[in-house]
Amino acid sequence: MSTPPLASGPEATDALRPLLATVLDALDAGRTARGGPLPAGGPGAVAARLGAAVGDVLPEHGDPQALPTLVRALAEGSADPAHPRCAAHLHCPPLAVATAADLAVSALNPSLDSWDQAPAASALEALVTRALARLAGLTDALVTTGGTESNQLALLLARETLGPGVRLLCGANAHHSLARATWLLGLPGPVVVPAPAGTLDPAALDAALTTVPGPHLVAATAGTTDAGLIDPLPDIAAVCAAHGARLHIDAAYGGGLLFSDRHRPRLAGLDAAHTVTLDLHKLGWQPVAAGLLAVRDPADLTALNQHADYLNADDDTEAGLPDLLGRSLRTTRRPDVLKIAVTLRTLGRRGLGALVDQVCDHAHAFAALVRDHPGLELHAPPTISTVLFRPTGATDTAVAEIRRRLLTDGHAVLGRARLDGRLWLKTTLLNPHTRPHDLAALLTTVAS
Ligand SMILES: *Cc1c(COP(=O)(O)O)cnc(C)c1O
Repeated sequence: MSTPPLASGPEATDALRPLLATVLDALDAGRTARGGPLPAGGPGAVAARLGAAVGDVLPEHGDPQALPTLVRALAEGSADPAHPRCAAHLHCPPLAVATAADLAVSALNPSLDSWDQAPAASALEALVTRALARLAGLTDALVTTGGTESNQLALLLARETLGPGVRLLCGANAHHSLARATWLLGLPGPVVVPAPAGTLDPAALDAALTTVPGPHLVAATAGTTDAGLIDPLPDIAAVCAAHGARLHIDAAYGGGLLFSDRHRPRLAGLDAAHTVTLDLHKLGWQPVAAGLLAVRDPADLTALNQHADYLNADDDTEAGLPDLLGRSLRTTRRPDVLKIAVTLRTLGRRGLGALVDQVCDHAHAFAALVRDHPGLELHAPPTISTVLFRPTGATDTAVAEIRRRLLTDGHAVLGRARLDGRLWLKTTLLNPHTRPHDLAALLTTVAS
């Protein structure tokens, strides 16, 4: 076999063009074969079909049909966030233009651990991170793999600023990655402040800050994973200021509202945070991964400085080569910033804001359908784009079974959330092309 072609260099275009056509055809074939939002039959059937299609993953001799075979098998067996009835999680359908940009990253393969591996990508990252930090009212930002890594970094920066005794206080509504980060970083476990209405209660926070010894890091949430609720950020910021507590805001979901003139005011108080988690693979329509941690004081980031002679020798840095190692805990690092930059430039703030407005409008329209349905109960009007509902009078067991039946039949991907002591079906509307009537038929299945 001849040496396989590379993705960049003089032969790349001729090599890639037919392969891209192959990929696009295989994606199409897989989607058509699936026919719905996810493959039918449940995990056993899906694994069996995949195994049969793929065969030996490390054959003795190569298979030139591997690309179409595997792409088709993956597409056929995928939960497709672009399908109108795939609406469970904060799992967005990526924009075509962002995915195309990501292909360029795969072809060029810059690595952001040193300037000599990513001259333009590192300059682009500096521009994009500052622009997005400014949008959030902060100063600088690091690119991460998502909200989980951003929350971990926020806790790490708090530990490095306040010392290893720092105590995390967060609402019962906070994302699980925060508690996990305390474990990872060897910090005391979080003090969980009650959130009876689904949001962090500032009075309960004030009481906790009064009794729990500091130093304190408070983590608030702008867009809870379960219900899309936004903690009362200005009140929480005021309580933190009064107690001298550091404030982190996890806006992995709600951060996207910053693009929208209509919805941005609901994030008032965000700029009072020391650190903010953003996640553009949620309300930003990016392929995974596209996380950010924005910081107010860039000096906080010096805690991440790291020296490795082969990547950032002092004399190289003195001679003017940018030192990138302190911009992440990772070493080899893909420029996720290109797809973000292309998206920001292509759509503009208003274009992204319009997408945010659409999915929020769709959530309201869908909630209205639920409210008007005689057999369904609506949890509450949506805050962002999440709608929780359940069949009237159903047991929690029945609600859980409805979700699993829809998954197994391949009819719909709905999520689940336990709120107010009951189990709800969750739809997270992130697809700007999905109309409420796309989901209306589903309501009949659920209520029957
Ligand atoms: C999704 C989410 C996270 C985790 O983000 P990942 O990108 O999945 O790591 C953290 N916090 C909140 C509020 C989220 O919704």
